[in-house]
Amino acid sequence: MNFVDLKRQYMSYKEEIDRAIAAVLNSAGFIMGPEIKELEEQLAAYVGVKHAIGVSSGTDALLLALMAYDIKPGDEIITTPFSFIATAEVISLLKAKPVFADIEDSTYNLDPAKIAGIIEQKKKAEEFRIKGIIAVSLYGQCADFDALNSIAQRHGLFVLEDACQSFGATYKDRRSCSLTDVAATSFFPSKPLGCYGDGGMVFTSDDSLAGKVRHLREHGSQKRYEHKYVGLNSRLDTIQAAVLLAKFRHFEDELILRQKCGAYYTEKLKNLQPKVIPPAILAHNRSVYAQYSIRVKRRDHLAESLKKDGIPTAIHYPKPLHLQTALDYLGHRPGDFPVSEAVAGEILSLPMHPFLTEDEQSFIVDRIASALA
Ligand SMILES: *Cc1c(COP(=O)(O)O)cnc(C)c1O
Repeated sequence: MNFVDLKRQYMSYKEEIDRAIAAVLNSAGFIMGPEIKELEEQLAAYVGVKHAIGVSSGTDALLLALMAYDIKPGDEIITTPFSFIATAEVISLLKAKPVFADIEDSTYNLDPAKIAGIIEQKKKAEEFRIKGIIAVSLYGQCADFDALNSIAQRHGLFVLEDACQSFGATYKDRRSCSLTDVAATSFFPSKPLGCYGDGGMVFTSDDSLAGKVRHLREHGSQKRYEHKYVGLNSRLDTIQAAVLLAKFRHFEDELILRQKCGAYYTEKLKNLQPKVIPPAILAHNRSVYAQYSIRVKRRDHLAESLKKDGIPTAIHYPKPLHLQTALDYLGHRPGDFPVSEAVAGEILSLPMHPFLTEDEQSFIVDRIASALA
């Protein structure tokens, strides 16, 4: 059994994907071929924003969004300590400072009340350096963007959605990637919409921000050999765009299958409460279940036991960002963000992908029950 079964997916759409790749090979338009614009138009329309800009990874999508806001050394960005490193890494890379706020105990997303508290504290300082908020829509469930946007508006901050796990999710009937000033997603192979290498996209309805991201992804140039900004080489490959166009045709069907798998797990695992806590998906949210992550006190015992049964699991994430060596300079210590630390000790992701069968899921649930009996 696979944690994410990319092979089953490829075999299902093999002809279409092979044809799409062959078309790029035949045209030799490897860099910025017509597939890029086609994909950008389709995905912008799908999420409901004016602009989508294909880039080389989710990490670069986050970085380019911050660069477009001209984030400078000493600026501060509020974000979550419970995410993949990239979320905070891009802030540090620009020599700005990640200011962590703890997460909600139920959704594992940023807690707006805690952000409001931090801002009040920071307002007392001589200089208010906070410029924006990066909120992750973790495991495929959107953060509370109405609350986050309203805090941001009150204090003149931008909100960047780290939608690397939530492409296709909805929040109050609006799609992830359209909920904030700007959003970044990833097409890493195992993400809900994945390509066959690295890829990402920036989404925004702000014309000038979009224009700047477009230039920044190509060495800050508006036209060849004329450079307005110091930028990056951060283009999406045409071959990856072609793969994504082929896969995107099946994306809505896959989302339905993801919903079904998520609902099945939750229905069965409810019976194991309180030993197992299934994910809490709020009524106004539709999760894409980039991960199906449960909370278990005896996490390491369960993972070990499932492994013996041939069931792969993963931990997203075992160590919160404020305790990572790379961010030592921030001076945090254990106990600073107790909710994130508690969840990091108990979270466990189960196999999840659209091609998971009910038989496989039933076997997994059965093995969990017996491991914890
Ligand atoms: C995957 C991921 C990223 C990084 O995306 P890449 O395409 O691997 O660079 C950033 N943030 C979160 C929350 C992610 O899950």
